Amino acid sequence: MRCPFCGHEDTQVKDSRPHEDGAAIRRRRICASCGQRFTTIERIQLRDLIVVKADGRRVPFERDKLARSVRIALRKRPVDEERIERIVNGLVRHLEAAGEPEILSIDIGRRVMETLREVDSVAYIRFASVHWDFRETKDFAAILETISTSVAADVTPQDGENPPVDDK
Ligand SMILES: [Zn+2]
Repeated sequence: MRCPFCGHEDTQVKDSRPHEDGAAIRRRRICASCGQRFTTIERIQLRDLIVVKADGRRVPFERDKLARSVRIALRKRPVDEERIERIVNGLVRHLEAAGEPEILSIDIGRRVMETLREVDSVAYIRFASVHWDFRETKDFAAILETISTSVAADVTPQDGENPPVDDK
């Protein structure tokens, strides 16, 4: 791997160890030219995914983007970094294993919401309020309802802009 500091082609691995419960490998590297050290994380990627946005645009799936939105939802909540990584890995693995090369962004949002609901109620509401268009108070009430009853009910907005999706 190329050195991010000087661009030198030859960097050496000094140390490799399992990361995120073995779902990834963390490598400490040192540049043979400038001596700078840096870390790389190697993760399993089962397949390349394409995200279909609400407006129909298609963009490559980005793990970092998903991880960022999960982190924002869980900010200052009692969930440590290691667990967040496991949550994100679980989400990605699920999406990759779904068998479809293209995934609707609304389906990803729904999957994240289902996961967060089990992890932390506050994070769940935060994520839901960002990713769903709550124009009606009843939509938000519906979200709260799913928390208090913990029923695995669908929380599709009644009159949102998101396209309808067939549940499998
Ligand atoms: Zn270097």
